[in-house]
Amino acid sequence: MPPIIQAQNLGKTYRSGKLEVPALRNVNFSVERGEFVAIVGPSGSGKSTLFYLLGGLTQATHGSIKIDGVDFAHLSDSERTRLRRSHIGFIFQRFNLLPTLSALGNIELAYDISGLKAPMDRHLLDHLSEMLNIKGRLEHRPNELSGGEQQRVAIARALITRPSIVLADEPTGNLDTKNSDVVLAMLRQSSKEMNQTVMMITHNPEAAQIADRVITVRDGEVVAIDLGRSSMDIVHNAY
Ligand code: ADP
Ligand code: MG
Repeated sequence: MPPIIQAQNLGKTYRSGKLEVPALRNVNFSVERGEFVAIVGPSGSGKSTLFYLLGGLTQATHGSIKIDGVDFAHLSDSERTRLRRSHIGFIFQRFNLLPTLSALGNIELAYDISGLKAPMDRHLLDHLSEMLNIKGRLEHRPNELSGGEQQRVAIARALITRPSIVLADEPTGNLDTKNSDVVLAMLRQSSKEMNQTVMMITHNPEAAQIADRVITVRDGEVVAIDLGRSSMDIVHNAY
């Protein structure tokens, strides 16, 4: 089986008119199913650009990104959208819930547009709501929810399709410590339960503790790929 994610010589230069901004260059890594990877680095280093590339939300200007062996660049726009909606769950720093829909409406919409044939799994919805402690909040609109609750709804929305990959861009960036801890623990648990690959951009030092690997980006380049604490525990326990 090919790795679930493979970046080869991946690069992105933004162009507007004559101006060129090289945001990412020569990025190489592969990620296995079920891995929990933290992506860290200073502001402006190219982390969000990597997030957009991994999610097929923007096109690479160099190299390739393959999801389960399939190169995004070889897909039509509609095929890319289909792959994204059915295989990838997105979580954003600003939650990005639709303000006119209830929490449940947001989750159902994500399922409806996924293109998955089976009806939404109500047991999974129950399980996620329980795990994320949002059961009593599902009928509320985002503006009636706290930031922590909105992010937990956004996580349920990302997980309801059982995506094989979860991409999160600073998911705890707008949360207090308590809510950050809950969100990190939930992502970790879900990744283990569903054998999900999680790629999480973060400034949160706790995240590196629970990650299997930590990718460090600086000035548009990957400067280190280290084992996270979680893997080190496994190594320690093995000896
Ligand atoms: P990070 O998420 O690590 O803060 P980004 O990936 O957002 O970094 O940005 C990397 C570089 O690319 C920065 O210099 C940023 O200004 C530039 N950049 C990001 N998005 C765009 C865009 N849409 N157009 C032009 N330049 C961009
Ligand atoms: Mg960013």
